Amino acid sequence: MSTLEIRDLHVSVATDDGEEKEILKGVTLTLNSGETHAIMGPNGSGKSTLAYSIAGHPKYTVTSGTITLDGEDVLAMSVDERARAGLFLAMQYPVEVPGVTVSNFLRTAKTAVDGEAPKLRTWVKEVKGAMNDLRMKPEFAERDVNAGFSGGEKKRHEILQMELLKPRFAVLDETDSGLDVDALRIVSEGVNRAKEANDTGVLLITHYTRILNYIKPDFVHVFVDGKVAEEGGPELANQLEAEGYDRFTQAAV
Ligand code: ADP
Ligand code: MG
Ligand code: MG
Repeated sequence: MSTLEIRDLHVSVATDDGEEKEILKGVTLTLNSGETHAIMGPNGSGKSTLAYSIAGHPKYTVTSGTITLDGEDVLAMSVDERARAGLFLAMQYPVEVPGVTVSNFLRTAKTAVDGEAPKLRTWVKEVKGAMNDLRMKPEFAERDVNAGFSGGEKKRHEILQMELLKPRFAVLDETDSGLDVDALRIVSEGVNRAKEANDTGVLLITHYTRILNYIKPDFVHVFVDGKVAEEGGPELANQLEAEGYDRFTQAAV
């Protein structure tokens, strides 16, 4: 079993006018293999900042606190080292990679993460199978990464990566945004398959409770103003579904 541990994390962002603004104000949470933790909260509460900080995005500066993976200092790792250590970050706005096909991108990523190229025969089969499960047409593999992808295609591509790269921990930021109900179900089933196949721990970041009907969280953490305002089990998500975030945001003012 693996553990991803975040301790009293404080993170600032460099704003456009060159100021440093503190966004995360002491976040602590522990994620074990096979567990699903939902991070919920109003817009602007710092959910994506947590994801970017785990990913090692250069715009976000950790001013204090720690992130460790089985005791190893994640903050000392480069972005590539984080991926090789088994962290998978599906970002909210994945970038376009002109001239690189999905097929090449996936094989390059797999080779980088595993430290060796996948065996061609089994790899091709695995990619085809995963694409079929996600209801993706084979032609999709020959398109340039993210070039003209619809919202749904971007999400499927993210989950395809998760299924193939078999990370120890996956951070999924707003995987539900812009998906219709059928796409949400297909994408969620992909997350559940990848989770079960690899005992992946999942940090599922979402503003809405809808996706939690498909991907069941073991724990729910509510972010307000850069801090965990409340945590609990799945029942907390049901409560938020009924009541919204009002009581938290009022308390924060
Ligand atoms: P969430 O994902 O919960 O909606 P974010 O982590 O995206 O929240 O943002 C948290 C806060 O940090 C917001 O108030 C946002 O405006 C601010 N913020 C994030 N990135 C930047 C940035 N690059 N420059 C200035 N403010 C930022
Ligand atoms: Mg603190
Ligand atoms: Mg966000």
